[in-house]
Amino acid sequence: MAWDIKTVCKQGRIKEALRIMQRNSPPIETATYSCIFQSCADKKFLTEAKLLHGHMIQRGYKAGFILNNKIITMYVKCGSLADARKVFDDMPERDVITWTCMISGYGKQGCASEALELFHRMQEAGNKADAFTFSTVLRLCAKLGNLEEGKDVHEKIIRNGLESDVFVSTALVDMYAKCGSLENARQVFCKMPHRDLVSWNAMLTGCVQNGEVGAARKVFEEMPDRDTVSWNTMIMGYAQNGYGDEALKVFQQMQVFVKPNAATVTVVLLACGGLAALEQGKEVHAVISRSGFEYDFFVGNALIGMYSKCGSVEEAYRVFNEMPKQDLVSWTTMILGYATNGYGREALRLFARMEQSGMSPDHVTFVGVLSACCHAGLVDEGFKYFENMSQFYNIKPGLAHYGCMVDLLGRAGRLGEARDFISKMPMEPDAAVWSSLLSACRVHNDIELAESTSEHLLKLEPKNASVYVLLSNLYASARRWDGIEKVRKIMESRSVVKKPGCSWIVVNKQVNAFVGGDRSHPQMHVIYAELERLSGEMKAMGYVPDTTFALNDVEKEQKEHILCLHSEKLAIAFGLINTCSATPIRVIKNLRVCGDCHSAIKFISKIVAREIIVRDASRYHHFKDGLCSCGDYW
Ligand code: ZN
Ligand code: ZN
Repeated sequence: MAWDIKTVCKQGRIKEALRIMQRNSPPIETATYSCIFQSCADKKFLTEAKLLHGHMIQRGYKAGFILNNKIITMYVKCGSLADARKVFDDMPERDVITWTCMISGYGKQGCASEALELFHRMQEAGNKADAFTFSTVLRLCAKLGNLEEGKDVHEKIIRNGLESDVFVSTALVDMYAKCGSLENARQVFCKMPHRDLVSWNAMLTGCVQNGEVGAARKVFEEMPDRDTVSWNTMIMGYAQNGYGDEALKVFQQMQVFVKPNAATVTVVLLACGGLAALEQGKEVHAVISRSGFEYDFFVGNALIGMYSKCGSVEEAYRVFNEMPKQDLVSWTTMILGYATNGYGREALRLFARMEQSGMSPDHVTFVGVLSACCHAGLVDEGFKYFENMSQFYNIKPGLAHYGCMVDLLGRAGRLGEARDFISKMPMEPDAAVWSSLLSACRVHNDIELAESTSEHLLKLEPKNASVYVLLSNLYASARRWDGIEKVRKIMESRSVVKKPGCSWIVVNKQVNAFVGGDRSHPQMHVIYAELERLSGEMKAMGYVPDTTFALNDVEKEQKEHILCLHSEKLAIAFGLINTCSATPIRVIKNLRVCGDCHSAIKFISKIVAREIIVRDASRYHHFKDGLCSCGDYW
């Protein structure tokens, strides 16, 4: 009979097993119970598990160590820590497995502090921890970022003579790195008598997590063996720390040795998006198509994100459409892609389709929807969506949503309403909200409101150079030299340093970076000649350099010169010289495009009859035929 119960259990027919048990009175052995509980754990059948467990107690069956440990494991797996704890507390004696199981159970449910407390009780009770206990506890310290506790555990590990265990020392490396102590991680790693691939990867990941890309590269080079995880980690390290071009290089090398997986291409696409490297992005897309994991949600969504970030919304939409099924992230990424690229109406149309499809939007989707209203100048619609958000979707507006609304009102020139809107916010406005209002002040030339707004903003970010620059420019356009002087003095007293403007353009898979006024690029003389030529044509078409954007009191001619050298112009000129005439130019700038460059680029787009896409610190500008998609508001 017992054999029958085991069979039906193994087939996952727990209910039937239960019936057989209740029908038959012969004593059931530990092995059978063990088998039943294992099946319940595998299937995560909590109700059945409790019935069986109750049945066992009713029969007066006394479970030993092994079976009780099994029951605890089962309850942990079924997600009921309370039941596990009851069994645990009732056990007259516990062994290392009992303790470890309970500790890891708490850890897995996100109760790291309770788990650590239990670990301490285990020590007090005199139960010796084993390698598995220690690595479990180290993971918890890492999760809590608790370096002190981690060091204590390390000492215990040494006392227990487990430091040379690969499993344990790898967990130590990981713990130290996650707690921000890369130095300790390195010491443990260097002392390891034997290292496997997992330990190497832990060290590599540790360097990346602590932002030490150079150190990561060294570890990567020294690794005796590399798997997909190693390559992915190295690529991610470069991509997340702003070395997108290096990330792409490693991706190229990787393909010689191992096959990239979905995680690889997702990270690589992130790097391509960050660099606006459309050509490489397309190549990755080709790799994806060849590998056959194109329609994985992660990959599909990463493709949509990459194309949107490269300013290529049509291609983003093609991917979106070709996905056999779209999830929340796909819809949201596409809506945001449309909105940030200035296609407000398309974004709203897509949102309507999303609602029809029955997919529920989340708070990120609404950031897309509201910023779409901004871009399309739809104030009333914006307010409607803002209300619908909480009314129909039960989503409380957050700071990002309030920021969008302020942007929306500001763009429409309703500055007073925007200010009132901020004063009625249920939470403290953050820097982004104040920045939105300040931008509006700049566009609508409202110095007074700009002054009070920047006060709020500078309280939060006293060293934000762009605020001072913006104020100074406002004063300059109103010829308020006293104001400029005041701003300059505050900047000096707070030792605010202007971040140098920098722009990037990818041509022939090479990233070219330009700093404002830079003369170090090998093609500099050709670039300057091109700018000179364009400048002549622009002036003939009626362009007047707006010198108020050159901070400081330099002579007019010199100012004109400084403006001419803003990094985005250098990058655009470089792009024009080095690409064929039909290619759109894609440039990224770390700061906001200045008003003079903005109007100059509009002229340039007309003169050279090319699309120029500039992604600056705040939004995308698609320049075409003398106009910009932002409608001169940014
Ligand atoms: Zn400029
Ligand atoms: Zn623009």
